[in-house]
Amino acid sequence: MSDLEVRVDTSICIGFGNCVRTAPEAFAFDDEQGVATVADPAAADEERLALAEQECPTGAIYVE
Ligand code: SF4
Repeated sequence: MSDLEVRVDTSICIGFGNCVRTAPEAFAFDDEQGVATVADPAAADEERLALAEQECPTGAIYVE
C-alpha cells in the first residue's frame, strides 16, 4: 500500500506496457488511446511504483 501520487504523462507514453506488467494494480492500459493510465496506485507497494517509474522507457511516470 502507498499514499504516493502517481501520474502518467500520456503525451509521451509510447504504450510499451512495462508499467502495467510491473504494477498491474496501479496502472491500466487504454487500448483505444494506446497509452497507460493511472488505476489504483494505493493498491501497489512503493517499491513496485518506484520500479515502474524507473522502467518506463520514456520517463512518462511520475511518483511523488
Ligand atoms: S511504461 Fe511508460 S511508456 Fe510504457 S505504457 Fe507505461 S507509461 Fe507508457
